[in-house]
Amino acid sequence: VNATKDEEASAKKAAATANAGAPTIFDKIIAKEIPSIIVYEDERVLAFRDINPQAPVHVLVIPKFRDGLTELGKAEARQRDILGELLYAAKIVAEKEGILDGFRVVINSGATACQSVYHLHLHVLGGRQMKWPPG
Ligand code: C5P
Repeated sequence: VNATKDEEASAKKAAATANAGAPTIFDKIIAKEIPSIIVYEDERVLAFRDINPQAPVHVLVIPKFRDGLTELGKAEARQRDILGELLYAAKIVAEKEGILDGFRVVINSGATACQSVYHLHLHVLGGRQMKWPPG
């Protein structure tokens, strides 16, 4: 109740950090407890259509085992292989979706970049003319 603004801010930050490691909606999608339209899947990667598409093609590519990979900014050297697999899966998705001639891969890392789900994911966007810079 008597917490100073600084204390409040640091409590908020601690809560955000704790939440960052908590299960997310993507765990339920991986477990198929929530239905999703799967575009590509292998042992370690899942790609499914974004529920709120920002382009005719909008697919999310995620690791099935988050392993602390809440956001790209927290990636560790030992996770380089899965990072490469995710990027290659993005290419497979683009190929399957017929947008190899032009597509965009986006990773929002952290709140300032508007990340909302703290389970690393690549957005694969295409099927329309893209603009630059993004917002
Ligand atoms: O990069 P960011 O964290 O903001 O992206 C999260 C994405 O997950 C959003 O594009 C949102 O539409 C998508 N999403 C989804 N299915 C859910 C919850 C979120 O496709 N059940």
